[in-house]
Amino acid sequence: MSLNIKELVEKYNTPLYVYDFNNITNRYEELKSAYEGKKSLIAYAVKSNSNLAVIKHLAKLGAGADCVSIGEVKRALKAGIQKYKIIFSGVGKRDEEIREALKEDILLLNLESEAEMKRVAIIAEELGVEARISIRVNPNVDPQTHPYISTGLHENKFGVSIDTAKRMYIYAKKSPHLNPIGVHFHIGSQLTELSPISEACEIVADLVRSLKAIDIDIKFFDIGGGLGVVYDNEVTIKTSEYARVISKATKDLDVTILMEPGRYMMANSGIFLTRVLYEKQNGDKRFVIVDGAMNDLLRPSLYGAYHKIEAVQKDGEKTPADVVGPVCESGDFLGKDVELPLLDNNDILIVHSAGAYGFTMSSNYNTRGKVAEVAILDGKDYLIRQRESFEDQIRLEEACDTSWL
Ligand SMILES: *Cc1c(COP(=O)(O)O)cnc(C)c1O
Repeated sequence: MSLNIKELVEKYNTPLYVYDFNNITNRYEELKSAYEGKKSLIAYAVKSNSNLAVIKHLAKLGAGADCVSIGEVKRALKAGIQKYKIIFSGVGKRDEEIREALKEDILLLNLESEAEMKRVAIIAEELGVEARISIRVNPNVDPQTHPYISTGLHENKFGVSIDTAKRMYIYAKKSPHLNPIGVHFHIGSQLTELSPISEACEIVADLVRSLKAIDIDIKFFDIGGGLGVVYDNEVTIKTSEYARVISKATKDLDVTILMEPGRYMMANSGIFLTRVLYEKQNGDKRFVIVDGAMNDLLRPSLYGAYHKIEAVQKDGEKTPADVVGPVCESGDFLGKDVELPLLDNNDILIVHSAGAYGFTMSSNYNTRGKVAEVAILDGKDYLIRQRESFEDQIRLEEACDTSWL
């Protein structure tokens, strides 16, 4: 992204998220083309960045959407993603969410427990429809990623065991209100090793074969998301290798490969811009206090995640500093021991790889308004979310009668 950061900051102020839409296109095309010759659908994981303009852009490229709440389903529909390309996943769907998803007639509901399957059958019966479903299996492989973002082990809350899945498919096949058309797994996020994916694919492909033997025809083979990206100096999985392993595991199966990438699409398509407020020295420790904070970009505080941080147009000898925000928590930091030159009030820092799980995890903690978001497409910048005002923040409280106080 060759950007005039100073101009952007002058125009939109800080803190600010900036997304490179051309990079999103490139990521999409690269992944899609890796599956040339195979039926595939990229269902973008909306939770990674759910800005309507981002989803609209992906919809135009032909993407589907993987959603984990009815709110995300509505965002996907609103952004123009065709209903037959929308998947609804998640371990805990409320009745109203199931009902609405069935009414919207989306591609499928991804189920994560027997109890949930039974709720879906009851609701489908009430509506007089047949619910297209897939079942999330937990192949019990170690994804070799951060424990907080690992999901494919039995100790994690996600999915069901292969044996439970078989029982569920047989139940679903018999039910007039359930139509089992897919199988799903998602073993974790920020995956950088191919072997766990390959192992999971083989296990799940075997399940599909054994289902076929009892006349249950699985049409969608959903490999989830989780493709890792470079934050620092990680060696990531090549999309061609990824596709090769998946194609190999499914070569005798007539299935559409569904993918649910979020981070892969968005992480390095976005940066977070923040302004330096002050420098401060506590004993030996150097702090750079900036106007962005954990409520705007939670990943460092939540997972100890690393984001590369650099100063814009600033020379001088670099020494380590913790980059911290104004929020009243010791855990409020964007980076630790970041090598930075001496900084002044109003200098700008770029926090890299912030396009995924950045804005979507932001909150109003400390009554800080959510920041603005900007898209860059073909060298032009466009505001895609206004900065939240104080009035925006208190609107739902002001709407309540407090004359009783
Ligand atoms: C979070 C999630 C994804 C996206 O994961 P990324 O690591 O961002 O690719 C895909 N599928 C499911 C079911 C998820 O929970």
